[in-house]
Amino acid sequence: MNFSWSDEQNELYEGARKLAASDLKIDGAPGAAATFEPKKWRALADAGVLGLSVPTKHGGLGFDRLTSTKVMEGLGAGAEDLGILFSASAHLFATVMPIVEHAEDVLKERYVRNLAGGRWIGANAISEAQAGSDVFALRTQARREGDRYILNGEKSYVTNAPVADVFLVYATTKPADGFLGISAFVVERGFEGVEVGQSFERAGLQSSPASMVYFSDCEVPVQNRVGAEGQGAAIFRGSMNWERVCLFSIYAGMLEQQLDRTLEYASRRKQGGRPIGKNQAVSHRIVDMKIRLDTARLLLYRAAWLADQGADAVVESSIAKLAVSEAAQASSLNAMQIHGAMGTHVDSGLERMLRDSLPSTVFSGTSEIQRELIARGLGL
Ligand SMILES: Cc1cc2nc3c(=O)[nH]c(=O)nc-3n(C[C@H](O)[C@H](O)[C@H](O)COP(=O)(O)OP(=O)(O)OC[C@H]3O[C@@H](n4cnc5c(N)ncnc54)[C@H](O)[C@@H]3O)c2cc1C
Repeated sequence: MNFSWSDEQNELYEGARKLAASDLKIDGAPGAAATFEPKKWRALADAGVLGLSVPTKHGGLGFDRLTSTKVMEGLGAGAEDLGILFSASAHLFATVMPIVEHAEDVLKERYVRNLAGGRWIGANAISEAQAGSDVFALRTQARREGDRYILNGEKSYVTNAPVADVFLVYATTKPADGFLGISAFVVERGFEGVEVGQSFERAGLQSSPASMVYFSDCEVPVQNRVGAEGQGAAIFRGSMNWERVCLFSIYAGMLEQQLDRTLEYASRRKQGGRPIGKNQAVSHRIVDMKIRLDTARLLLYRAAWLADQGADAVVESSIAKLAVSEAAQASSLNAMQIHGAMGTHVDSGLERMLRDSLPSTVFSGTSEIQRELIARGLGL
């Protein structure tokens, strides 16, 4: 087993980290709610991040999952603003990659180059009020009429919706067929019958905008269907495999930031005449942070590598997602505790990491759903 990275991958990681450290800072007063900043989106687009895993013939950088994972980790290690990286990941891994992998060439020609270059922003819309964890209970309908589909329904929690140009929408084409009756469509914001709701604020990842999206007799050309009728659920599952690994790498980067800062603080801050890190109660917490970081990395790299070899890697991706998200919350609490009152200052940035980690055990399937997927993989 070879655990080494190539020189190119190491350079990409360092480049990503430097880019994030210089261009993905949070501007404004400490504690102010961060907002989506187009200049950061452009910085990511200029560096090729918004098309990282998109084949070069469609305008991307053409990296495999393992390399994409490493680049996203580097960005997470350098960034203060994790929200913009979350938006970029929802765009690339849950919206663009399913189009790349399943759409007809004509559809790819029309959308992928602009999305991969960041000129258009993508969003994926599957969740509905009654269809969260039970995602395939969705009710948005796509009724075929000649060379069009007519979409009706409402989507909730759609990341990027307030700024998106293009939505990947999942709807039922055959309600009686349940899971096998779902299809995926590329829907432009400008299509008649699309309405985007008001942005809502969330606890963490605040610079990543989200809202409801409504479809009311929205006409979508047949050629905008991604894959065959009834293939939508499988397409969505494939997109989650991308997201659960490549998106969650940004949290592995965050874990590294926290560890570096906490180590430095525990060595510098003295109480009772010696550094606080000389107390076992403190040093063991830091050791736990290190173990979580290494575990997160190894599980992410394994899932990415397996998928690159052609394995479905569903269970491995779920294990990685579960471990990283739960590590992000646990280590955020450790980092705050070790920084004492300093950790509670909003301008320390540590409480923001805790807030950013809170939704990570919910999106891309909750921790409970990951455990269900892993249990099924074990034959239970
Ligand atoms: C930051 C963020 C970004 C998001 N972005 C998007 C997006 O871009 N597009 C999109 O379509 N959706 C998005 N979502 C929605 C997300 O996919 C759902 O929130 C998620 O699937 C959970 O659904 P729910 O919130 O309705 O919770 P519910 O499904 O109602 O679950 C509530 C609780 O019950 C538990 N539970 C439910 N069913 C089971 C079960 N069978 N076994 C055990 N426990 C169970 C859950 O684990 C959870 O703890 C986003 C959510 C967040 C927080």
